[in-house]
Amino acid sequence: MPDTANPFSRVNFLTSAGPTGGLPPDDLPELAFAGRSNVGKSSAINALAGRKRLAFVSKTPGRTQTINFCDLAGRARLVDLPGYGYARVPQAVRDQWDQLVGGYLGSRGALAGVVVLMDARHPFTPHDQHLLQWLRPAGRRLLVLLSKCDKLSRQERTKVLKAARARLAREAQTAEVLLFSSHSGEGVEQARALLEGWLRAAPQE
Ligand code: GDP
Repeated sequence: MPDTANPFSRVNFLTSAGPTGGLPPDDLPELAFAGRSNVGKSSAINALAGRKRLAFVSKTPGRTQTINFCDLAGRARLVDLPGYGYARVPQAVRDQWDQLVGGYLGSRGALAGVVVLMDARHPFTPHDQHLLQWLRPAGRRLLVLLSKCDKLSRQERTKVLKAARARLAREAQTAEVLLFSSHSGEGVEQARALLEGWLRAAPQE
């Protein structure tokens, strides 16, 4: 049963867009989720929605080439941006990603904010930095989730949070940063509250 107090529990798959188009109208506030593959993005979306597994985040081949849009209680959209893996990827894949994801991040009028997941054990991979480079000039609201933080000790968690905040500040990147774990639930409530605030602040059509 959907939890009516949590708007993220009313998430329903809407459509997929690819390099040849298919974006829904730019008319409702959108929250986009990004991060390299395997960082824990699907698990984070599921944790925010308070569900075990949403259909739209199921793994499908060619996932790096589509942006998935979901309806959020009829008043906003949740957007799953593709990420590529950690290893070196062919330039053609990066170019395609730049065109699709970069294009979306740079031009989407109704984009209320972006959630970037970085693995708490090794944040700021080349993929993460590439993503942040796209976000900086676009001046979007940004929430960085340091994922899988349950794998770190309390001391390591404090250290990684401080270091990530300092690095983003040094790079003049305005961002909220939270430790996050879909497994332990750390950061889930805080992230949800923050994102709800962004949606409330977004202009409604
Ligand atoms: P995605 O490719 O970014 O969507 O990543 P997934 O959500 O599918 O997660 C990738 C792997 O990391 C899976 O094996 C998950 O069980 C694991 N994982 C995801 N979130 C967490 C977390 O919070 N803690 C731990 N320890 N593992 C996680």
